[in-house]
Amino acid sequence: MRPVLLDPVFAPVTVLPGIGPKLAPLFDRLLGDGKRPARVLDALLHLPYAAVDRRRRAVLSESEPGVLTTFEIRVVSHRPSPPGRRGAPYRVLCEDETGDVTLVFFNAGRARLESLLPVGEVRFVSGSIELYDGRRQIVHPDRVMDAESFARSPMVEPVYGRTEGLSRRMIHKAASGALAKVPKLPEWIDPNLLVRENWPSFAEALQRLHEPGTPEAVGLDTPARVRLAYDEVLAGQTALLLARRHMKRESGTSRRGDGRLREAILRGLPFTPTNAQTKAVEEIAEDLAKPERMLRLLQGDVGSGKTLVALLAMAAVVEAGFQAALMAPTEILTRQHFERLEPLVRAVGLRMALLTGREKGAARTAVLEGLASGEIHVVVGTHALFQEDVAFARLGLAVIDEQHRFGVHQRLALSRKGEAVDVLVMTATPIPRTLVLTFFGDMDVSVLREKPVGRLPIDTRVVSLDRLSEVEDAVGRAVAAGGRIYWICPLVGESEELDVAAAEERFAALRARFGAQVDIVHGKMKGRDKDDVMARFAAGSVSILVATTVVEVGVDVPEAGVMVIEHAERFGLAQLHQLRGRVGRGSDRSTCLLLYKPGSGEVARARLETMRDTNDGFVIAEEDLRLRGEGDVLGTRQSGMPGFRLAVPERHAELLATARKDAEALLASDPDLTGPRGEAVRMLLYLFERDEAVRLIRAG
Ligand code: ADP
Ligand code: MG
Repeated sequence: MRPVLLDPVFAPVTVLPGIGPKLAPLFDRLLGDGKRPARVLDALLHLPYAAVDRRRRAVLSESEPGVLTTFEIRVVSHRPSPPGRRGAPYRVLCEDETGDVTLVFFNAGRARLESLLPVGEVRFVSGSIELYDGRRQIVHPDRVMDAESFARSPMVEPVYGRTEGLSRRMIHKAASGALAKVPKLPEWIDPNLLVRENWPSFAEALQRLHEPGTPEAVGLDTPARVRLAYDEVLAGQTALLLARRHMKRESGTSRRGDGRLREAILRGLPFTPTNAQTKAVEEIAEDLAKPERMLRLLQGDVGSGKTLVALLAMAAVVEAGFQAALMAPTEILTRQHFERLEPLVRAVGLRMALLTGREKGAARTAVLEGLASGEIHVVVGTHALFQEDVAFARLGLAVIDEQHRFGVHQRLALSRKGEAVDVLVMTATPIPRTLVLTFFGDMDVSVLREKPVGRLPIDTRVVSLDRLSEVEDAVGRAVAAGGRIYWICPLVGESEELDVAAAEERFAALRARFGAQVDIVHGKMKGRDKDDVMARFAAGSVSILVATTVVEVGVDVPEAGVMVIEHAERFGLAQLHQLRGRVGRGSDRSTCLLLYKPGSGEVARARLETMRDTNDGFVIAEEDLRLRGEGDVLGTRQSGMPGFRLAVPERHAELLATARKDAEALLASDPDLTGPRGEAVRMLLYLFERDEAVRLIRAG
């Protein structure tokens, strides 16, 4: 049970001043996880990613693009979006004595903008100028104030990721209220480390970040920020070690198949496995046959054929009389796995079922019964697999695809569904060797470095966004020749709404030019609608698919031969590589166009050139690690570090190694966490919601 000392921070945000029934749902959307409401703790850990310095002022002609600045400007005119053109922005023209600027808003109500920015009035507008066709514009200004509220507002104000309807001021107010609820907690960090790094206490660190005195005070490298990242990482590493200790203590089961199903499956395939696939399958089969529990990581670049390895591993377990489960992170992927694998499995006389949040009623009941009776041999599913009412007759192997989306608890939760379940984790993010240990600990590793034969390298080009119209022409030619094209729009703003708005705008423009064969898929769409669009793209009735990064993981449309990535400079290399892996799956030569914003800088260019020069994910990952600071080894903010919300991989990766050593030393000297520091670390585990791990100490 969680210590009562922590109750105040686990209370819902509605205990905070100013958050009533009207704001609560907005905070739930921003900070909740979809199942539970937002809590005080969530407000505390929702750290500002920047701070606006209103001391920084400039006239328009002297403004520096890309730097947050406050301008005193007069509103000249409004240009609402044309009726019926959803996605087109609303523009407001403003000026000062030295020049003009256009404020650009997506999905904004006219009435609200007219009252915020009345024509003829002077307003203080904070934001960063961008040059668009040589003209100044500010997309979604950070703040628009009249003289009076400008005079009242703090000169340094934290900037938070936010959601529609919640202003920065409201989020800051919640954070301030939450700070007052932080109890006095024991220090869990090793005193030597604390002194050496000059870290503040947990409470003090939060205070410094939510009430910054200067814009620099919220930086990722400040002692306050690093300390909190360390707290999180330490909780994670301790939980990982406890979980592993627990798994190792449970003895495993030997599952040795006779090879009959594997051979039958291989006979039915139109190709032969690569040497790398064969070797990985052998390594796995050996592990399965051993009486110890398997904990193996299968690393393989996009398109290296991990799915076949998983299938053969599952078949081996079924041969030995057990069931197998394959868990994927998204609905789309899960269905795709099912559609691909089910016929292969059926052909050798096995039953395979699908279980996602969408299977309901009688269909779901039938699957549950089949799993409980053992009639279903293999199941493919999403998180729905580890819901409580899912029980297996004899689960022997859990395969987890695209690991970095799942945390350790999920891994545990699934492997609990049977006795001494063997675990195979698959990741398409090639992780440099140096990081494998820290993220996955002492898991055994199989690597698919070789691609199936006949794959042509993808012709990658780095193109300035200035040449957008030429790119559209090229897309037009590709479509005319019967090609299929992905057009990826990046994350643009602080909120998903902005990202979607930008994608919709691109969609509208491409549709205006190419007609109904253009469609869009993004994260805000319902699962079924997403699948529908993907299915039409796979079938060819849609030939240009505009997408936000939802296509990132695993989707396979071999006919797609062109990928355009807009604002490629905003993506992590690993993510670009993942995206690019969606093309080049067929037998024709594929192209990837990386469109970058002119003036993105040297490092950005160097990174994109790495993409141009190699198709080897491992080389890219090493290079990304080398360019760290700009790099992002494990994907960008969408996925972040596995299971972390404060630690940022490119800035805090070294903390992992320290935390791991620290946790190992602590558990060696105090295995049950009963000493004074051990008790404090328990508190930390609860604070970062690793309750599961604390329970494992008891279970021992
Ligand atoms: P990933 O490792 O990205 O999950 P997949 O398992 O989806 O890759 O495989 C990508 C594609 O390559 C699939 O269409 C699959 O059928 C095909 N494939 C897998 N192994 C081979 C092979 N040995 N030879 C030819 N094609 C293969
Ligand atoms: Mg895959």
